[in-house]
Amino acid sequence: MKCINCSVELVADEYKGLTIRTCPECENIWVEKDTLREFKDRTDEFLCWVDVDLWKKDEHHIVTRADKNCTVCKEYLYNVDYRGSHIVLPVCFSCKGVWISAENRKKLFSYLDNVLTNETLTGYLKEIGHEAAELVSGKESLKEELHDLKTILVLVEYRIFSKIPVLERIISGFPK
Ligand SMILES: [Zn+2]
Ligand SMILES: [Zn+2]
Repeated sequence: MKCINCSVELVADEYKGLTIRTCPECENIWVEKDTLREFKDRTDEFLCWVDVDLWKKDEHHIVTRADKNCTVCKEYLYNVDYRGSHIVLPVCFSCKGVWISAENRKKLFSYLDNVLTNETLTGYLKEIGHEAAELVSGKESLKEELHDLKTILVLVEYRIFSKIPVLERIISGFPK
């Protein structure tokens, strides 16, 4: 399959047991929903805090049709933006996959940094009796783990793939 930006064939790499397809030109990454199933099945206590702002408020999705089509199925790609992150990811709802550009990975890392340094986070987790409260209070040790592609993939799993039915309902109202 080809990159949506450069039309260059993607290269498949093994990453922690997962197959990640990367563009050798622009380092755009293509991630498919099924690839992340293993992450989801392996419950990861450490990473549950990344989802914290989703528990606090109702999600507000902004979905727009992208100006590019999926290079696999040729269907429209949709840009999905979540309030709070302001990071726009192109999603193919037909293939159930998402593009994560090098720039967006940087943005996601700094978004996570902000979540982690947010003083209200630990308090909030304690308030609801969440086991992540203690993990987050030891946040210095989390820095390294934070800047890991896995963390980004888990966030994408929470924010995009687990919300696909909701997002599909939104785009079903779009003109064909
Ligand atoms: Zn590319
Ligand atoms: Zn597709």
